[in-house]
Amino acid sequence: MHAIIAPHTGGPEVLEYAETAVPQPGPGQLRFRVAATGVNFIETYQRQGIYPMPFPWTPGAEASGVVDAVGPEVTGFAVGDRVATAEGSACYAEYAVVDADKALPVPKELDLETAAALPLQGMTAHYLATSSFPAGAGSTALVHAGAGGVGLLLTQLLKARGARVITTVSTTGKAELARGAGADLVIDYSDFATQARQFTDGRGVDVVYDGVGKDTFDRSLESLRIRGSLVLFGAASGPVPPVDPQRLNSAGSLFLTRPTLGHHLLDAEERRWRSSEVFGAASEGRLSVRIGARYPLSEAAEAHRDLAGRRTTGKVLLVPDRS
Ligand code: NDP
Repeated sequence: MHAIIAPHTGGPEVLEYAETAVPQPGPGQLRFRVAATGVNFIETYQRQGIYPMPFPWTPGAEASGVVDAVGPEVTGFAVGDRVATAEGSACYAEYAVVDADKALPVPKELDLETAAALPLQGMTAHYLATSSFPAGAGSTALVHAGAGGVGLLLTQLLKARGARVITTVSTTGKAELARGAGADLVIDYSDFATQARQFTDGRGVDVVYDGVGKDTFDRSLESLRIRGSLVLFGAASGPVPPVDPQRLNSAGSLFLTRPTLGHHLLDAEERRWRSSEVFGAASEGRLSVRIGARYPLSEAAEAHRDLAGRRTTGKVLLVPDRS
């Protein structure tokens, strides 16, 4: 089969399209023929060595496909089942193996591309909106990168919960998408703290969901009301330097959390809760999933360049080159 293999850390050019052996499912595992792979920002950090990975390395935690082999001790899945996952490994490939307890059955209403686009960013948006800071009616939230993969989904989930949403974007095209997702106020990054305060009659927003990091962090703190929450969940512009806790005091007894998806899928029950709510909303048309770009698997490097270069919107997918 073909897969992307990075021999070592580096820029997008290290993502080589290569021939390799089809993986074999071990006990408790499934193998599936990949229909589509979700590209996620974390893979750009992993590729650069910001998060250490075992090299040579095949990226990819998120994909969908059809089960073609079932390992020993697996119950509840059979060859031919449609599955997706946010917790796989080496999914930049034509076949991938996943632990059966991390495989999500795909509802019949969803096509396999949508099923690949939803698990990781969808369950991230879900835990941000329900667990990190449960914004609801009466809350005002600021969401950075509102036309991004997480941003479009998070905006919709927050609106469904009754919150008001302000969102930042870098282009007019992205602004249109963010408004389409339901954002009440869409602004650029130039002066967002002032605008967030004006929108809340000087009070400040209840929560900032910040996946941009270095470039926005200070002004995200400035956007918050007294005792507001900064949910820092990513670093698209680079990592935030060390923070003196005293700053949270002087800025208004603020709360700061730095959550990650793995800690919000702790067991089968939590995974079922989040995946069924997200897949259910998409199946019933309450959650719109934008696939902003599809690249052949062989062009994974281009997908990384475009994602890191702010040229994408919504979900970025890789599709195996087979015809
Ligand atoms: P996006 O589709 O949101 O892409 C990133 C966006 O960030 C860009 O399109 C861009 O939007 C914005 N951005 C602002 N400044 C920069 C910059 N200097 N360089 C690049 N992008 C910039 O990506 P995802 O939805 O996949 O992920 C969003 C964030 O969420 C990432 O930081 C990711 O690591 C994080 N994440 C965290 C998870 C967790 O559990 N903690 C899980 C999943 C994702 P614009 O042009 O409008 O500014």
